[in-house]
Amino acid sequence: MSESAPKSDGLLLVISGPSGVGKTTITHEVERCLGGTFSVSVTTRPKAAGDVEGRDYYFISEQEFARRRDAGDLLEFAQVFGKYNYGTPRRPVEEQLRKGNLVILEIDVQGALQVKEKMPDAFMIFVLPPNDQELLRRLRRRGRDNEEAIQRRYAAAKAEIETARRSGAYDHFIVNDDLDKAVKHACDLVRQRRIGAKTC
Ligand code: 5GP
Repeated sequence: MSESAPKSDGLLLVISGPSGVGKTTITHEVERCLGGTFSVSVTTRPKAAGDVEGRDYYFISEQEFARRRDAGDLLEFAQVFGKYNYGTPRRPVEEQLRKGNLVILEIDVQGALQVKEKMPDAFMIFVLPPNDQELLRRLRRRGRDNEEAIQRRYAAAKAEIETARRSGAYDHFIVNDDLDKAVKHACDLVRQRRIGAKTC
């Protein structure tokens, strides 16, 4: 708690968007093209096929999550889809920012709003699907869920978009119609922000 506040030379980039919108791909492409550091979250959700511990998430128990949350070790946290807990470890983010680096969080709107409140200089991008039909099509195409779960995710996605719009916390809404264009758009926005802030 006695740690000094991060200096403002680094940039905290928050990327949010509903599931199925391609935000994970965009996040990792932005990390690659701009040399940022992806913040690996902790979560209580079970590890899925293809998930790598320490790369995608740190998979921890509910008890461990509660311990870290109560100790103030999480910059933000949220229960996503009313089920599992997710949170951003605070210390690595602050360390990277202090070094003047770009730190990228891919988190949901509830968490993003907490970050914006604590760190008003955070640069906030929300990724949108081209339209509702395409969002539904992409959720189905993932082949992960049954129709009931797909409809739940669809309703949650629409609510998340609405909350993001109403919050006024996001600097930019980008539409992922064409992945390459969306990645370029996101990278350009971050570059402009950093130049504007005279940090690169
Ligand atoms: P998934 O379980 O499909 O990887 O992620 C589900 C949702 O949780 C996504 O919207 C993702 O952005 C969000 N999420 C991942 N990590 C965090 C985190 O640390 N904090 C918050 N608030 N949301 C997260």
